[in-house]
Amino acid sequence: MRARFPVCLPLLLVALAACGESAAPSSAVRPAPADDLPYAIKDFARVPKFDAHVHANTVQPALLEQAQADGFELLSINVDYPDFPTIMEQRAAALALAQAEPSRFHWATTFSMQGFGSPGWAAAVEEDIGGAVAQGAVAVKIWKNVGMIEKDAAGALIMLDHPALAPVAERIRALDVALVGHQGEPHNCWLPLEQMTTENDREYFRNHPQYHMYLHPEQPSYEDQMAARDRFVAAHPGLRFVGAHMASLEYDVDRLGAFLDRFPDATVDLAARMSQVQYQSVRDRERVRDFFIRHQDRILYGTDLTQDPASDPAEFKASAHAVWTSDWRYLATGESQRVDMIDADVPGLALPRGVIDKIYHANARRVFLREGRGG
Ligand SMILES: [Zn+2]
Repeated sequence: MRARFPVCLPLLLVALAACGESAAPSSAVRPAPADDLPYAIKDFARVPKFDAHVHANTVQPALLEQAQADGFELLSINVDYPDFPTIMEQRAAALALAQAEPSRFHWATTFSMQGFGSPGWAAAVEEDIGGAVAQGAVAVKIWKNVGMIEKDAAGALIMLDHPALAPVAERIRALDVALVGHQGEPHNCWLPLEQMTTENDREYFRNHPQYHMYLHPEQPSYEDQMAARDRFVAAHPGLRFVGAHMASLEYDVDRLGAFLDRFPDATVDLAARMSQVQYQSVRDRERVRDFFIRHQDRILYGTDLTQDPASDPAEFKASAHAVWTSDWRYLATGESQRVDMIDADVPGLALPRGVIDKIYHANARRVFLREGRGG
């Protein structure tokens, strides 16, 4: 049931010729089908790719221009996040960029939790989401403020499976757009700084102690967050739920695989969690590689690249290119690289190109743009 991917066919032969390291079958051995061979570094720019988790928070087009140069489509996700411009400003930027390049730039809307539980809140949110979808939004984002920040009138934290959120979820399902859910935090968030497995988590939680749950034992536990999210997904079959940041199960690919097995309509993105994957693969490369192959239809490449209004465009382009090429080296090729976040040399996974084509492009086009879906 592979999505059709005719645009790549001419590239396969080129890449096959370039693939020295792992192919090289002797003349007596039947060559593997082209889809089983890995890509090379030099295939990066020309293979169609999709970064399913970025934040273009300004009309300044540096991110879009770098995406064009490096062969990416984008899903830019609006978020109800106090460090970002307002939701309406984010939406205005998305509309402008989508108008500039509609075939490359896609966007997800979001909604405010302000007034949650008051009469008319859900109806107003549903109307707003419907309006955004009519303007081209292909998904809706719900952020970790649900589960970690927002409280109801009685002062209780609003978890994702709160009954008052159900009509909104059903509206999203009826509109046939995806729901990108970021609930909870990396597993490291519940650990002391010195026990965290990656430097990026240590840095983030050092700078955001309000989200460092090890310091807030009165808050819901990691398992509380995961259980509420699972109850929500189970309660809305048919909803295209995308677990952002590897559904906050980034620390264990086996556990993430069990989540995907349990919820056949769910997918996950890799945004801002590559070092967690690498932490596991330097310890057991085959386990991680098998995870990607087994769940190749359910994983979306994403980075969390964020272009703020204050970003220097040239610097931002360089950093986006560096992130994208580093990830390509890791996922698509067998080449090693130094990863400071985990202080290790990390060999690439050299995933089969058929798997890369799905993770990097076809899955996102199916989930967000409904390409290749029946009915
Ligand atoms: Zn994000």
